[in-house]
Amino acid sequence: MTALLVLVSTHGAAWAQEILIEDYPDVIDARVSATPERARLIIDLTGATEFAIVSLDAPQRIAVDVKAFDVKILAPADVAGRGLVSSFTVELSEKGRARTTLTLSSPAQVQQAYVLKAVADQPARLVVDLIPDTPEHFAQKVAADLSASIANRGQAPGAMPTDPGALGNSAISRPLVVIDPGHGGIDNGASAPNGVHEKNITLAFAVELQKVLIATGRFDVALTREDDTYLTLDQRVDLARQNKADLFISLHADTFQQPEIRGASVYTRDENATDVLDKVLADGENRYDMVAGFAVPRATPQVMDILVDLMRREMRKNSFQAAESIVRQLEPSVPLRKFPVRQADFFVLQAPDVPSVLVELGFLSNASDIANLQKSEWRDRTVNALARGIADYFDSIQKDVVASQ
Ligand SMILES: [Zn+2]
Repeated sequence: MTALLVLVSTHGAAWAQEILIEDYPDVIDARVSATPERARLIIDLTGATEFAIVSLDAPQRIAVDVKAFDVKILAPADVAGRGLVSSFTVELSEKGRARTTLTLSSPAQVQQAYVLKAVADQPARLVVDLIPDTPEHFAQKVAADLSASIANRGQAPGAMPTDPGALGNSAISRPLVVIDPGHGGIDNGASAPNGVHEKNITLAFAVELQKVLIATGRFDVALTREDDTYLTLDQRVDLARQNKADLFISLHADTFQQPEIRGASVYTRDENATDVLDKVLADGENRYDMVAGFAVPRATPQVMDILVDLMRREMRKNSFQAAESIVRQLEPSVPLRKFPVRQADFFVLQAPDVPSVLVELGFLSNASDIANLQKSEWRDRTVNALARGIADYFDSIQKDVVASQ
């Protein structure tokens, strides 16, 4: 379902020059972060491209090839952190192909790999996540890549790109979850009396949630921002829509006038917000964009035919189902607001074609919530509950599809 996954097929003409090499994107940055449990490679590009991944031995490496015209970085920075990957290089290894070679400190395998298209000032990206592998399985992968490459290209993969093989098949059917950490950059969001900003809390939760969801092996997971960056609400929605996300989940921890109001809640969009307090909350959220100096251009009214209406209804139903699944899993773990599944007119939930929910993790106007939101164990608990809820949601829509056949 995730159309953003652009995988190379060596059987077809994927590497043949259907497009002029001059039109291939440039590699403009590459960075690697690593821990003993996982590593992530991010390659920034001037446009989306195709890629292939091979495992190589002596020394143990994973090479990531992308179709590219040029490599416009002098030397990549060192690996951030210590773990699976000890060093890496990026080079234009032949005309039209840039190779990033990750030297492993222990055997590793690709957990997920996907291309994100450019959105606003965010460049296109290839993201490759690695997790540990057994020496036996790694050796098998090296052998398989070698024979596939010789069969397809008549050359060893050290010299030529090859098929990502099993990765392609398993990755392509995974749903894409886009997590949106609320606020960021000049927009702090809400602030607690102790000076803690909502933008930092939402980012910490989002990064953790991504990690937990990826570890299930069921999802591809992207973040709208990975650092303290300002994004308009439109940009957040666009990222989910352009990548055809299967679920969009925006994380917040706002303030309320009544300090006694506390607990988590999950919102879906309704232009006619049912609760006056909810309306106030949603208006405040939408206003952050204005405050930050960016007017929110309301979507131009399109011709609303019956199909669009049906699609909206379907998305609304799925959004509600997602909210219910998440709340069901949050309930045993964390304090919830009264009537925790709520509707409000949040602009960030406006995508007509992506089921979208907004999670208020708690309130920065409530002392207990403030304390919780800053505890890593509370964050773990919440994030694990959110992940279970998301998995339940996908299970439930799967069942709906089966039932309607
Ligand atoms: Zn917020």
